[in-house]
Parts: sequence; structure tokens; C-alpha cells
Amino acid sequence: MKSPHLQSLERLGIRLIETPTPFPQVPTANAWLIEGPELTIIDTGSAFRPAWDAFKEQFARTGHAIGDIRRVLITHGHPDHAGLAMAIVKRSDARVFIHEADARKVTTVSEERFGSVWGRYETYYRLLGMPADFIEYMHQVAFAALRPGELLDTVEMLHDGDTFEVGAGKLEVLACPGHTPGCVCFHLPDHGVLFSGDHLLPSISPNPVMELGAEASLEEPWEGKFRSLVTYIESLERSRAMDLDLVLPGHGDTFTDHRRLIDELNRFHQTRQHHVLKALRASEATVYDLARQLFPNREHIELFLSISEMVGHLEVLEAEEKITRTLQGGRFYHRINQEDVGS
Ligand SMILES: [Zn+2]
Ligand SMILES: [Zn+2]
Repeated sequence: MKSPHLQSLERLGIRLIETPTPFPQVPTANAWLIEGPELTIIDTGSAFRPAWDAFKEQFARTGHAIGDIRRVLITHGHPDHAGLAMAIVKRSDARVFIHEADARKVTTVSEERFGSVWGRYETYYRLLGMPADFIEYMHQVAFAALRPGELLDTVEMLHDGDTFEVGAGKLEVLACPGHTPGCVCFHLPDHGVLFSGDHLLPSISPNPVMELGAEASLEEPWEGKFRSLVTYIESLERSRAMDLDLVLPGHGDTFTDHRRLIDELNRFHQTRQHHVLKALRASEATVYDLARQLFPNREHIELFLSISEMVGHLEVLEAEEKITRTLQGGRFYHRINQEDVGS
């Protein structure tokens, strides 16, 4: 039984294609088919056999053929969103669009860079205080999992404010950096509908992912690092100001009342930062120490996500001048600023 939201979306020529992913943290991913003069799809699903089978099966039920797709719009370069783009391109004349800050994640350029990118992450992970065996795990498992299945030869760049004509009217690109540097949403202003990718998801969860700058050096990999949570919070404020009736996320069910969700996210971040400050009042610490202390039972990819989240909170606290980061003996230590003691 389809939800009433999905039924009303069908009247606008918008259909959900929900596919499985190989990532246990997010078991399914949403792609959104939009009818119109040029058949358009927002996101694709993972390059993963069960996802492609589900995609083909659900697509056939829309009455369209994959060969008819003319545009693939990617909200961001993660493999559960861009993974099937190449499979679609091979069977159609579709053009693929992505924000330039995420383009390298999905193109052949990224393959050449993979080795050198890892070297910088390895150095950075050591600075965060990660032990050698966990760094090796990251190399073998987690980092490799971020590689998209099939890389694209050509993509076209999306910019904030670009528009596309679809059956339901004007579709606007809205840059929402944070979850990734090139994360975008797509807005149908005539209908108050936002395709939010991973920028807004129906459940509260740590969202921005740790990411080094594209041109960071091996010696100083933190130079130009994307401050994901600082940027994400700014993007949340921007989406908070929008009048929306319905949000169509990259995972899970459609939802209304995005402002309530954003308020909950802000409270969630503030609570976590309060806990970080409390821990730092006891003693200075590395990112790894703090992740272990605040999330003691997490291992493997869950531990990595905790570390990633911790980096985000520390960058926010540093931007607010509540803490200071120093480099000592090849590790970053975080210390609470004097004026905050006892507050
Ligand atoms: Zn994502
Ligand atoms: Zn996702």
C-alpha cells in the first residue's frame, strides 16, 4: 500500500524507486523518477547486483524504459546515490549532472588519485590518534567501500541556482554542503517539494562525513580540510528558511515539517558538544580518545563514524573558540579554553 504522499507525487509525475544497498547502516536508497519533456532521475542507487535488479524491475512498472532517461541528477557523490549512473548511461543517452565539489568522487579521475588520497588520510588518521591496526582496517575495508562501482567518463557540473524544466515545473538546484562538500538538494518551488538527498533524512543521525581537502599535502593533510559539521549547520539554517510541504529524502520515508527536524538536529548537535566539553574539562584528548570515551562500544565502521562525528563537533567548538587544538608528538590534542572552565 503506497503512502498518500507517494500517491499525490504520482499525480505530479514523480515516482520512487527504492533499492537495497550493501551498507548495513542504510539498508535502502531512494531514486526519484520525474516525468516531463526530458525523463529525469534524481540519484540512482548502489552499483550492486540486487540494487540494479530492483531498479530495473521498479522502473519497468513506471511504464518507461531505462533507455528513455535523458538526465541523471546526482545529489552527492556517495556510492549509494551515484553507483548506478554508469549502468544507466550505458543503456541511454542520459547526461549526468553533479556538483563540481563532488565530481571527482564519481569520475575516472578519482581512480588515479586513490593511492595518493589514501596516503594523506593515513597521515591524518594518525594525527587523530587512531591506532595502527584501526588505520589498517580503514584501508582494507572502509576506505575501499567508498569507491563507486563504475566510474563515469564525463559529468556536467551543477551550480547553486541552476534550473531544469520537468513536467511538474521548474526544478532548482540548491547547494547544501555539509554531508559532503558538493551536496545539493533539488527544489520544486511550485509544489513546495524538496528532494533532499542525504542533507535531510527522516531520522536524526550524525550526518556530515569527514573529508580532507582536494589539494591537501601529504605533510599537512589537514590544510584546506572541509569543515563538514560547521558547513552543515550553515546549510541547515538555509533550508530552515524555506517553505516546504514535503521532503523526499535519499533514504527512508517522505516527511513534512522539516523545521521540526532541523530543530531536533540542532539540539542533538548541542547535546553532543556539551558532552565533548565535559570530557575535555577532565583532560585534553585526541579525537580517537574522545570517540572511545563517548561511544565506548563501537567498533569497525561504527567506530569510524563516531570518529568522523567527533571531528565535526571539535571543529564547531574550535570555530566557537571554546577549545584549542595543538600538535604534540605527532598527534592533535584538544584542550578547553580557559574562560570556559567552570562554566
Ligand atoms: Zn551520502
Ligand atoms: Zn546516502
